[in-house]
Amino acid sequence: MKLFIVNSGSSSIKYQVIESGSETVLAAGLVERIGEVCGRLKNTVHPGTKDELEMVVEQPIADHQSGMELVIATLTDKTNGIIGHVSEIGAIGHRVVHGGEDFSGSMRIDESVIKALERNIPLAPLHNPANLDGIRVAMEIFPQTPQVAVFDTAFHQTMPPRAFLYAIPYELYQTDRVRRYGFHGTSHRFVAGECARLLDKPLTECNLITVHLGNGCSMTAIENGRSVDTSLGMTPLEGLVMGTRSGDVDPALHLFLKQNKGMELEAIDALLNKESGLKGLCGMNDMRDIHKAAAEGNARAKLAVEVQTYRTRKYLGAFMAVLGRVDGIVFTAGIGENDPIVRAESLKGLEAFGVRLDPERNWLRSREARCISGPDSMVRIFVIPTNEELAIAREMAQVLGD
Ligand code: AMP
Repeated sequence: MKLFIVNSGSSSIKYQVIESGSETVLAAGLVERIGEVCGRLKNTVHPGTKDELEMVVEQPIADHQSGMELVIATLTDKTNGIIGHVSEIGAIGHRVVHGGEDFSGSMRIDESVIKALERNIPLAPLHNPANLDGIRVAMEIFPQTPQVAVFDTAFHQTMPPRAFLYAIPYELYQTDRVRRYGFHGTSHRFVAGECARLLDKPLTECNLITVHLGNGCSMTAIENGRSVDTSLGMTPLEGLVMGTRSGDVDPALHLFLKQNKGMELEAIDALLNKESGLKGLCGMNDMRDIHKAAAEGNARAKLAVEVQTYRTRKYLGAFMAVLGRVDGIVFTAGIGENDPIVRAESLKGLEAFGVRLDPERNWLRSREARCISGPDSMVRIFVIPTNEELAIAREMAQVLGD
């Protein structure tokens, strides 16, 4: 069966078509600049194989409906398409950012799921409406095809109140559901499952710390296969230092910036989400550029790496204390999978807690999931590539009972 995975953003649609049994990616693509003067679609068929073929279309794409229609036309194209007819798509999976407290797992989409997503818009005012756009359009184009929502927050719904509550008046939780939700759940769950396989243990017996370091960054403490704490909060701003997001700051910073810089709340929000993190510290948010600049003597670039890896180490220590026994630490996402310097710096000083990196294994370049700890390390350390689309495809198969 062919599965269509959709990640709909405010002006973009990212997608993949995956063959369910073999888990082969038949096509992957991105529609960008929806609603702008000129939109763009990039579609790659059979990516990563000898038959890989890329095509780009540039034309106005008025809305998500037009974007999705362009994707379908491309996928069913007589010459380079990978399907003959839309009916070959057996199921559609949607990545949804915020499921609030309504969803602790993936759900087949019906009216009640859509209502719950609408109810959760205040928790993710930028993301959930865009996800809903993608769902509505797909339901119109594929009225007979089962559709599944896979939530970024669902994996973390197992956190106990002591981890998810903020120490603010309890009524704010009761009336407005102000609490930690956590994100990147699909990625954390996926790499945890892969790690259990490498440890040759059932996931339900594994205590893990999964460290997702990409443009967005988060860390999760997993006890017996369940998320018990995570670094992102009510929104994806709390915790680790990210590409352009600050992570933890003193909440009183808002008042300071308002009183001393005359900034409005919206401007402060934009500053913390878009102008902070690595970019705020050194003007760059791509770790490759930052390393290059640091090697050329740029002191701020060096400092940015120090601040990020120090924060990561601090959270690692905190989550080791949360779990007590840790079987594995897993690094994943763009930086986690590819950056031996960040991994080594983040783990520095944890030797006394039984965490010992093997420097040679750490520097080995590979796309494969691998162990990078030394033989004397009590806690095994892994690099495991994340694959959110494949994770969504597996979730869909489970929900639909394939
Ligand atoms: P992601 O959000 O998972 O796609 O990760 C994106 C980030 O990964 C980029 O902004 C880069 O900073 C980082 N990245 C990708 N490749 C490398 C690499 N080879 N070395 C260091 N960082 C990398």
